[in-house]
This record gives sequence, C-alpha cells and structure tokens, in this order.
Amino acid sequence: VAVVGAGVSGLAATKCCLDEGLEPVCFERSQDIGGLWRYTEHIEAGRPSLYPSVISNTSKEMSAFSDFPFPEHFPVFLPNALLLDYLRRFAERFGLREHISFGTTVVSIRKHPEFATTGQWSVVTETGGKQTSHVFDAVMVCSGNFSEPFLPLQSFPGMERFRGQYFHSRQYKNPDVFQGKRVLVVGMGNSGVDIAVEASRVAAKVTISTTRGAWLLSRVFERGYPWDMILNTRFMTLIKTNLPAPLSWWLVNYKANQWFNHENYGLQPDKRYFLVPLLNDDLPSYILTGRITIKPGVKEFKDNSVLFHNCPEEEPIDIVVFSTGYIVSFPFLEESVVRVENKHASLYKYVFPTYLQKPTLAVLGLIRPFGAIMPVAEMQARWVSRVFKGRGANMSLPFLQALLTPIFLLPLFLLRFGLTFDEVLKTEWLVYLDTLASFIGAKPSVLGLLFTDPWLALTIFFGPCSPYQFRLGGPGRWVGARQAILTQWDRVLKPTRTRVPVGSSSPFPSLLIVVGFLLLLAAVIFGF
Ligand code: FAD
Repeated sequence: VAVVGAGVSGLAATKCCLDEGLEPVCFERSQDIGGLWRYTEHIEAGRPSLYPSVISNTSKEMSAFSDFPFPEHFPVFLPNALLLDYLRRFAERFGLREHISFGTTVVSIRKHPEFATTGQWSVVTETGGKQTSHVFDAVMVCSGNFSEPFLPLQSFPGMERFRGQYFHSRQYKNPDVFQGKRVLVVGMGNSGVDIAVEASRVAAKVTISTTRGAWLLSRVFERGYPWDMILNTRFMTLIKTNLPAPLSWWLVNYKANQWFNHENYGLQPDKRYFLVPLLNDDLPSYILTGRITIKPGVKEFKDNSVLFHNCPEEEPIDIVVFSTGYIVSFPFLEESVVRVENKHASLYKYVFPTYLQKPTLAVLGLIRPFGAIMPVAEMQARWVSRVFKGRGANMSLPFLQALLTPIFLLPLFLLRFGLTFDEVLKTEWLVYLDTLASFIGAKPSVLGLLFTDPWLALTIFFGPCSPYQFRLGGPGRWVGARQAILTQWDRVLKPTRTRVPVGSSSPFPSLLIVVGFLLLLAAVIFGF
C-alpha cells in the first residue's frame, strides 16, 4: 500500500496497514514526520509558516490515537512541539519510521493499465530530482488539506486599486509586519482570529471583518474542564442529533452565550447559518479592551481604506490579511479519480472516491468535524486497511454499490467558509466515528456493557467519548482500553492539580455521588 504523507493521517495509515498485515510504503516529501505540527521547522527554513503559535484546540485525551494515550505529564492542550513529540513516540512505539521514505514526493498516481481487474495503481515518486515508477495494490492519500490558499480577490470590489499591503494567512510568519499599522483581517476562522490577536499586541488598530459572525468557545469550558471532554459525549450527541434544527440552534446559542453575550460583542451568527464554533481564549477580552473591533463583510476597497456593509464611514487600513481558507487539491491525482462536480467531491463517507470500479484508493483526514482529527483519521485508516485487506462486512455488495452512489458528498467550497447545518449533522464527530467503527465491528455497545461492566458503561455514555472506547472490542482490541477510559480524568488533572491544599483531596465526595446515584437508581426501579 502506498501512503502519501507522514503527518497524523499518514502515520495512522501506516500503523493500521501493519496491524492488518499489509505492507505500507509511506512517501514523505519533507525530511521528517509530523506534517502540520512540525511547523517551526518551516520558519527556520525560511518558508512561510501556517500559524503564529499553534496550541492544539482539542484536548490530549480526545486527540490521542485510540491505543496510545498521551503521557500524563503533558499539558491538556498541547503546543505543537509536544504534539510532535507525541507523534515521534507513536512512530517509535509501532516501528513506523522504517516504512517511511523521507525526501520523496509523490508526483503522480494513475490507474494501472490492468486496473479494471487488479485495482492496482502506477505511482511515480521523485527523490533528489530522480523519478521512480512503482506499482501498488492500493493507495492511501494522506497529503493534508492546508497547502493551497484560497484567495478570492475578485469577490472584493475595488481590490485592484487598494494601495496597502495584503496577503493570505498562509503567508503569515510573525507579528513584526503589523508594527504600528492599521490591520484588517478578512474572514473569521481559527487562524484569522489567532492572527488578529497576535497583531493587536503591536498594531495601531486591528479590525476583523466577518459576514456570518461566529460562535466562540474557550478551551476552558464549564467549571474549567476542556470543552471537548464536556461537549463530545454520547449523551450530548444523542441530544444534539435528535433535537429539531431550531431547538438545536437554540441549545448551541444558549451554551455559547454562557461565556459572553455574542450579540454584545458583534459576533452573533446569523440564524441562517449553523457554524462550527471557533476556539479562542483571548478574543472576548481583546474586544472588551478595545484592541480588536468586529465589523460586517467588506463592501468595497478604496485606495487606503475599506467600506463595510451597513457602515457609512470608511476605515483607513494599511494591511489586509485574507483568512479565507484553503482549496482542497490533489495535484498528483487525475481529476477523474477524485471527481469535483459542482464544487462537490464525490467521496463515500468522505473517504472512498465514488465511480471507481475497485475500492483501492482512499483519502484520509479530509473531513473537519467539530472534534479532534487524529482519532477520525485513525478510524478511517482502520476501516480502509480492512477494506484493502478484503475483510469484514464492509466488502459486501451494498458497500460496493454504495461506492457508485455519491451519498455523502463533501462540499469543498464549504470547507473554506464554514459548514451549513446539514453538514454539521453529517459530520457530527461522534456519529461519524461510530458509523465507521460499526463497519469494522469496533463500536462499543453501551447497553451490553451496562450488564457486564455498568461503571464502564456509564462512563462511556455520560463521560467524554475518548478514542479508547473504540479499542474495547473488535479487531485491534487493546487490553489497556478499559483502564485508559477509567483514568482519563486523572491524566487531565495531573498537569494542573500541582498544588493540593492539605486535607482537600478526600475521596468522600465521589463516593457520595456513587452512593447517591445507586440510591436514585434503586428508587426509580422500585418506584415502578
Ligand atoms: P498534514 O499534517 O498536512 O500532513 C500532510 C503530510 O503530507 C505533510 O507531511 C506533507 O509534507 C506530506 N505531503 C503532501 N503532499 C505530498 C506529496 N505529494 N508527496 C509526499 N508527501 C506529501 N486537529 C486536531 O485534531 N486538533 C487540533 O487542535 C488542531 N489544531 C489545528 C490548528 C491549526 C492552526 C490547523 C491549521 C489545523 C489544526 N488541526 C487540528 C487539524 C490538523 O490538520 C490535523 O490535526 C492534522 O495535522 C492533519 O494531518 P494530516 O496528516 O492529514 O495532514
């Protein structure tokens, strides 16, 4: 199996191939693993960096590969260097490096002449200017989706006469460029907000322009717990996915506005859009202290200023940062393989290109649900490697027919600007994970566990859906999974509970909760 790229997705793919007894050959164009998380080396090499200072938005317990928890002393949200360190430990633990060919770029992937019968692929790679041809039985594309900036200048009237400086957020290296300047950030994704916050420390003025607004969440969620360990639970997902759309909108509105009132901060999203929330701990306080101002969409650029919709006065601007997202592209693939029609890429479950006669090519890590990507990419890799191996019910006729029917289409243009309500439902993090897990028989049965291991069942249902849940049974079962689930909060508290006042850490309160819960259960059962 050829694996393109050795980032998070490529490492998961290589490991899952080995688990299934396949022979992966991973091609990585750079000299090391880690992909996006190795971004400081891009700065050192003088290449544009993706982001100023990347701290993960998802917590370590929710971002872990399912059979490899983060070390307990690591912080809950990780600076990119520590995430890279974790990926290095992962590669070491499962012996992945010897399957990776560094400094090798995949330049083309074409159907082999015998594809109709063998499903094979002709792959051309380039190392040090020398090209080599290979034939592979299958391919996993793990090349990431943050490389080709989307810069729609033509959608901004007057841009051609704007005399200030402008660039895409991809080109941003450090805030020095903003020193004493009036800065406009167009677009309100995670990167746009991060850059605005950095810029406001040195700039004369920073404005963010957003047409849609945004829900903003803090990493530090209710009672100081990580947001994803509170929101991404089976219980919450059951509620979210079963509520009618208006009620679901109200619930998100209510939850998001508990931190601060989005309307008062100019951020309230339009009701027409159901946006994936942004993560930023600083923006509200920066708005409150006047360091950042939020404005509506840009109406027109003038020589040295900008006009916003519904705002009569012009805003003088020196630098514009377009945080307008990325174009998903696979330059080494023929358009006919991942077909893009009407701005939609036809990928079954966001993974297998439809219209291929043989399911021997898969795209990993393309989807962006509201949760950690690592466990998602890993689950995709587990499913795909089993399909490649020809194992399990997922090779049945309905599956193969489904490949020819573009049921789950991935709207590429929405990747740039956020997702509509329907898309959020389609890509609901836990629902998606469960769907793929059920294909390979790794979805945990909460009901079954309620009889055999009730404490675990309750932890799984009401607690965070940490990825270890998908290693409790089925192929690739990990004996440490139960213990990892029951100790997940210990690993979260370990790096922060560094000062415990004498006499405060008694087990009594939790014992009280357990007894209280059992009494309540008994009351309900005997009451009926
Ligand atoms: P990448 O990390 O982009 O890796 C792709 C690899 O493929 C690279 O090493 C590249 O060199 C190689 N490659 C590309 N083309 C070729 C070729 N033709 N031949 C050979 N090699 C090639 N996700 C989370 O889960 N949690 C977070 O907190 C989080 N925070 C993020 C913050 C920012 C600012 C951004 C931009 C993203 C964040 N993400 C986060 C999403 C992130 O994309 C994923 O976590 C993950 O890094 C994606 O990994 P990947 O392997 O799919 O892609």
